[in-house]
Amino acid sequence: MKKNKQQEAKAKDEKYIWHSMKPYNPEGTMVVTKAKGAWITDIDGNQYLDGMSGLWCVNVGHGREELAEAAYEQLKDMAYFPLTQSHLPAIKLAEKLNEMLGGEYVIFFSNSGSEANETAFKIARQYHQQKGDHHRYKFVSRYRAYHGNSLGSLAATGQAQRKIKYEPLATGFIHVAPPDSYRSTDQDECPPHELQSVQNVDQVMTWELSETIAGIIMEPIITGGGVLLPPDGYMKAIKEVCEKHGTLLIVDEVICGFGRTGKPFGFMNYDVKPDIITMAKGITSAYLPLSATAVKKEIYEAFKGEEEYDYLRHINTFGGTPAACAVALKNLEILETENLYERSRMLGEKLLNQLQPLVQSHPYVGDVRGKGLLLGIELVKDKKTKEPIDVPVINQVIASCKKDGLIIGKNGATVAGFNNVLTLAPPLNIEEKDLEFIVTSLKKALLEIV
Ligand code: PMP
Repeated sequence: MKKNKQQEAKAKDEKYIWHSMKPYNPEGTMVVTKAKGAWITDIDGNQYLDGMSGLWCVNVGHGREELAEAAYEQLKDMAYFPLTQSHLPAIKLAEKLNEMLGGEYVIFFSNSGSEANETAFKIARQYHQQKGDHHRYKFVSRYRAYHGNSLGSLAATGQAQRKIKYEPLATGFIHVAPPDSYRSTDQDECPPHELQSVQNVDQVMTWELSETIAGIIMEPIITGGGVLLPPDGYMKAIKEVCEKHGTLLIVDEVICGFGRTGKPFGFMNYDVKPDIITMAKGITSAYLPLSATAVKKEIYEAFKGEEEYDYLRHINTFGGTPAACAVALKNLEILETENLYERSRMLGEKLLNQLQPLVQSHPYVGDVRGKGLLLGIELVKDKKTKEPIDVPVINQVIASCKKDGLIIGKNGATVAGFNNVLTLAPPLNIEEKDLEFIVTSLKKALLEIV
């Protein structure tokens, strides 16, 4: 009986829904009906621990009634008015985000991470124009990073396999190598790897001509590309390179923000002040769509000329709807009152400590890394060559975990298109006993491939 319900829904799903990333679910689509805390329930009543917070976004956990109520109350009061005018939830949220960022930013609201990045690109390009810097239109970004699905944000994305059928994308995007400490540490490089990655950005900006570079976009930690942490001093050095070339540092906090890396924003781990910050996902913990582009006030000031084209000609119908802003405010309150930034840092450290011994004990675990509740486990065929493990093997680990009741992710695009990094990003309020379940279940699944 149980199976029938699921099968019926799956048949209709197959017929009517065009899913993204079909191969993402090798064992078929799961139809989810309920979710509470870190746990989701499918249509047949099977329970799974959501080890990825959906798509790295349900930071305060599923089933938070406070968030549903915040949306309901706001929808009853005033459901919509565009932000060509204004409303109180947006004002309060912009004030709150500004306070979290240290008081120097103005906020433009949209609905998705891709839109937040597109907005950042347009603002950066127009900012340089406003200053009379007419040649600055190019953006630098890193290979392996993902920045979105639209023609500009996909152009910034450094994963060729996502682009191949959609070219030509927006022009003016240049890629540089990301720092990858795991794949570089064994090589006797001179200068050291981290310095080399920064020098590479400096060189590219020089060779492309400084006066053509509008900005660099980067995540503090490359997430979808395989949880690549920056080496010490990397982000600070990149900011200095930006200053040298008179260009902007745009930081994509779509995944790293709102506690995922143990701080309100990922860049706060690395002692830099970005010029533009983009955010989405965890801003509402995914209860309603919302994203934001936070822009340094001095950039905003440059848009205050008298001419027809001096203001920002960029509009977004649903960006910053009252209910989404009300939910975001409540979500930020929960993150603070439940101390979830610190909890993410602490639990992340605990999880890392428990999983890192696998590097010694398991023949295919090449590296375990992360910050806060954002972790990657890189699987390789051979620890010397670091050749990525075959996709069917990593799929087997994911399938075994799922069978056991644990959902984990698979990421790590490389130039060759490998996806050899298992990823973990559970809700930040996950209970400690559930963390133990993650460790036990994952270890069990990893033993099965030996
Ligand atoms: N930037 C990063 C770092 C992301 O991971 C994503 C989505 N996974 C995006 C941007 C795009 O966000 P969205 O899917 O909301 O457009």
